[in-house]
Amino acid sequence: MNRFTERRYRGTEQEDTERRPKRYPEEYEPERDLQGSRQRNAEQQERRQRAEQRRDEDFRRRKQKMLRRRKRRCRLRRLRKVLFRLLLAAAVGAGLVFLCLRLSQLSMFRKKIDVSKLDKPQWIEENYIKPNPYSRPQTELEWVNGIVVHYVGNPGTTARQNQSYFNGLAESHKTYASSHFVIGLEGEVIQCVPLDEIAYCSNDRNQDTISIECCHPDESGEFTQATYDSLVRLTQWLCESFKLDGSEDVIRHYDVTGKECPLYYVRNQEAWEQFIRDLR
Ligand SMILES: [Zn+2]
Repeated sequence: MNRFTERRYRGTEQEDTERRPKRYPEEYEPERDLQGSRQRNAEQQERRQRAEQRRDEDFRRRKQKMLRRRKRRCRLRRLRKVLFRLLLAAAVGAGLVFLCLRLSQLSMFRKKIDVSKLDKPQWIEENYIKPNPYSRPQTELEWVNGIVVHYVGNPGTTARQNQSYFNGLAESHKTYASSHFVIGLEGEVIQCVPLDEIAYCSNDRNQDTISIECCHPDESGEFTQATYDSLVRLTQWLCESFKLDGSEDVIRHYDVTGKECPLYYVRNQEAWEQFIRDLR
């Protein structure tokens, strides 16, 4: 730096010093500025503290809300579990009751009845056909789960004639046929086969049913009033003796094989339904 530039520099430095207070006032009023700065700092700190407090409070409130919500959810979950268990227990209970009822209806669980102890009414005439392979094979009837109603299909024949026909099969060997009971045109009831033996009458249901053949005066197959009344009386006694349900366990030959037997009560469904109602 030479002499001239040094002077110019000094001049410039002096000028700079004069201008400086305008740009940097803190250098000239340090006390006042320090006080203001402290105040500002205090205010800032206070604001910060208030904000922190608000944040804390907000956080606490949200946490409480969350805890309340969680508790409510827990209660609901517990309630749902209890309800589910109750429903499950009810369903299992209902299922067991249903199963027991069904099992009690199955032949293997149905109590076997000692026919020798049955109190047989006087109006049943015992006239058993002689043992033979064609109409009385003496096969044991182990369980009685139903009663099958038939018509003889031979208009005007009597109960006695039908009993003789079954009896004659032992010699004629014409066919395999028989029935536990035959009800005549006058309402007479003849028992042809003991109740602990099967009869050849109802195809697949020979093994677990009792059969009743009914005489009829004409081709229509309709029973006389006397035959009908005896049929009702006999069926009621059998239902009672073998603990059967008239509306479910009393069927037609038609219900086993589809054969039109008993003819009138297959062609006239209402007449059959009336018969079932009359059993009550
Ligand atoms: Zn039949």
